[in-house]
Amino acid sequence: MVIFNRWPRIERKWINSALDEKMQRLSELRDAALKAIENEREKGLVHSSLEARVHLFAQDEELFQFLRRNFNLLALIFIVSDVLVEKVAAFSEGTFKSPDVSHLGIRIEKIDFPKCQRCWNYRPSVGRDRGHPQLCKRCVEVLELEKTKKPACPGEAKRAAFL
Ligand SMILES: [Zn+2]
Repeated sequence: MVIFNRWPRIERKWINSALDEKMQRLSELRDAALKAIENEREKGLVHSSLEARVHLFAQDEELFQFLRRNFNLLALIFIVSDVLVEKVAAFSEGTFKSPDVSHLGIRIEKIDFPKCQRCWNYRPSVGRDRGHPQLCKRCVEVLELEKTKKPACPGEAKRAAFL
């Protein structure tokens, strides 16, 4: 019997170190964003991080590309409602310059969207669904999905039929 191994060999060590580096950078960005939010909280602009939009300015192409690649993770790890990423030649006045991440500027803006009563995020989609005027689009989708969800096993289906 002949077995072909068509999978390319990937150095495990290499994967881990690339992942470690990415997580390390994301964690530094998170610290920088939290510091900027804390500054604005002290000034009274926002009360919780979910009221904030983090506007990130990259002065460097490599940093900008890293932010773009990981864009979907940013709002989640910063625990904020919205994130914007922009490449700039120079920081405008009032931009918080991160002491820990070079070429990074941050501006915290207060979100002016309504608050979703389910996830507490401030989103532009809150109020658009007539059936759920207090929820954001994402939460409405989750609720709709739960409604159509099939029972996990036949036993559950039987039990559900008796209820
Ligand atoms: Zn929601």
